[in-house]
Amino acid sequence: MKRKIKLKKTVIKKIKVLGIFCAILLAIFLFYRSQINSLKKLGYSETASRNILFQFKKKYILSIGENKTLNAAFESKDYEEKYLDQYSKIDYQNHDNLIKNINTLIKKGYSNDNISMILAHGSDKDVTEFAKRDKINYLEEFFSLPYAKLSNYDRYVDYSNETGENDETTVLAVNLDMDKENYENPTIVKKFSTDMLVNKHRSLQKNFEPDDLVSIDSEYAVDDTQLGSRIAVNAFIKMYKAAKKEGYDLVINSSYRSYEEQEEICDTYRELYGENYVLNYVAMPGFSEHQTGLSFDVGSKDSNVFAESEEYEWIQENAHKYGFIQRFPSKYQAITGFRAEPWHYRYVGKKIATYIYEHDISFEEYYVLFLD
Ligand code: ZN
Repeated sequence: MKRKIKLKKTVIKKIKVLGIFCAILLAIFLFYRSQINSLKKLGYSETASRNILFQFKKKYILSIGENKTLNAAFESKDYEEKYLDQYSKIDYQNHDNLIKNINTLIKKGYSNDNISMILAHGSDKDVTEFAKRDKINYLEEFFSLPYAKLSNYDRYVDYSNETGENDETTVLAVNLDMDKENYENPTIVKKFSTDMLVNKHRSLQKNFEPDDLVSIDSEYAVDDTQLGSRIAVNAFIKMYKAAKKEGYDLVINSSYRSYEEQEEICDTYRELYGENYVLNYVAMPGFSEHQTGLSFDVGSKDSNVFAESEEYEWIQENAHKYGFIQRFPSKYQAITGFRAEPWHYRYVGKKIATYIYEHDISFEEYYVLFLD
């Protein structure tokens, strides 16, 4: 037997009201989602979009469009409404404390452009440290150079005061640690790569060895005991063959040297000529590029003085085509810390060697500009 369920009129009314209420909620939700989506389309994150809506800043954001710094501001708990316009004019950096640091720098009185400049010259940590100090009035002095570092600011000031050098030389020298004594607190270079920089401020550990050490066929070297990094040796062989085709005879006189071998060389020269000679003309163990396996002392089979040979003229014009640079020309002595060594060639790869050849700069300068 079926029992008819008869709903009372009041119940029907309640259901209707509930239905209308749900429909309104749904409409509000859909409207909210469409607002969020229109902000997301401009590149704002879900969190930022939500905060933009709740702070009633949608109209402002639409007038600005995509802006990564604003996005970060609306994502951050450090957001301050009074700095909204400034946020929009400061260049974004991917820093955890970006907004907090911007707030601090605004309070110190820096302009938007100054703040963009500060942010571009250091890590999040560097900027946080820099923001603690008193306002610096002439930021452009060093930081108009793209490779100047916030963390080196005091050293730039000291170096330029002491030496009277211009901004460019100062930044270059300090970034290369040339304001420290040679061999003092060097940076330890651990990883082998064809663009590694080893000099009197950047050293290798005792156990460092190139990743791809191979022996060099005696056809190309002074004897059959020479070793080198495979990639550099292969490049040398190509260069050797090209030179030979044109009638020039190159030879490797010295190649990879271990830490211990460099130590022996230092001892020998110390006995012969004294400590000063060693300090000026020989790299200390760990500080010699020969330990990288990427450097060769090149000679001519026809001449005892390489710098006076036809081979020297040829290699000066052609080494870069095979990825080599003359590492210590006399004109860079102040930067490299070594007197001229016309025979010492370093493999850095064709791209870097060609840049250095065409722009006539030292490897140290290239490192500061592009690798540091
Ligand atoms: Zn050498």
